Amino acid sequence: MPDDAPARTLRTADELVAAGLLPASAAPAVAEVAARYSIAVTPAAASLIESPDDPIALQYIPDPAELLTAPDEIEDPTADAPFTPVKGIVHRYPDRALLKPLLACPVYCRFCFRREVVGPDGGLLTEAELDAALAWIAATPAIREVILTGGDPLMLSARRLSWLVARLSAIPHLDIIRIHTRVPVADPGRVTEALVAALATGKAFFLCVHANHAREFAPAAQAALARLVAAGIPLLGQSVLLRGVNDSTQALEDLFRAMLRARVKPYYLHHLDKAPGTARFRVPETEGLALMAALRGRISGLAQPAYVTETPGGGGKVLVR
Ligand code: SF4
Repeated sequence: MPDDAPARTLRTADELVAAGLLPASAAPAVAEVAARYSIAVTPAAASLIESPDDPIALQYIPDPAELLTAPDEIEDPTADAPFTPVKGIVHRYPDRALLKPLLACPVYCRFCFRREVVGPDGGLLTEAELDAALAWIAATPAIREVILTGGDPLMLSARRLSWLVARLSAIPHLDIIRIHTRVPVADPGRVTEALVAALATGKAFFLCVHANHAREFAPAAQAALARLVAAGIPLLGQSVLLRGVNDSTQALEDLFRAMLRARVKPYYLHHLDKAPGTARFRVPETEGLALMAALRGRISGLAQPAYVTETPGGGGKVLVR
């Protein structure tokens, strides 16, 4: 594994080989994966990788098994498409809507449920499309909460984000703005004072941070989270239960303790969606339930997220029981 973190985000099989994160013999197969699914490993993420099968590498380094789609895997496992009244909006629940201003992310997670659509070139709503999406929210008074997701909304420039938060803040019937992001742990340097200032709003505001392993809370990530906390932004945590990454009581305990130390309240532990080529990460629900039960006696209730899964056909999240 590399002695030094790479200077910039790695996006190809050859760059992963050059950085010491992939054996040269694996490059042709990984290049095939890259033709279908985006790759990005930030310097911050690369610096945490200690071995090819460690919990950080597994999340970001492509594997040829991604080209094998299991019979029960589907392209749009959360069924966003049928719930899209205008481009960029997903309206599944009466009082909430997702707004996806772009589909780029700091890293591309190998288990992502939107892996068929996320990528560095895709999905930035045009000015007109974003106007139409905001007009739809403004004209739908039942919407009380907007969840900015993507992609990763913190990949927008501070200026663009500030404009977007201001537009949402001006919609009278909105109570809550929420942003889902991986940036504070995957690319903490993006959390500048300007970016934090761009999130200022008179509405209730929550930032939901996606992290799956305690080691993602490295010093730079902790500092980025501290900047958000200092601005008075409440932080929630969301994680995905992943084979090889966090599928043990100890790994989950360490993860949720690391979140709480960083003032991130564990909110959701997601059961893995059945996106194509993700079978190697799958943990059965019975095992997930047993892990959650084992945690109950070991850690504070504050450290226990809700273990949830998506119902088929876009029915939304339900507790795993
Ligand atoms: S950051 Fe989120 S949306 Fe982007 S690849 Fe990872 S899981 Fe998917």
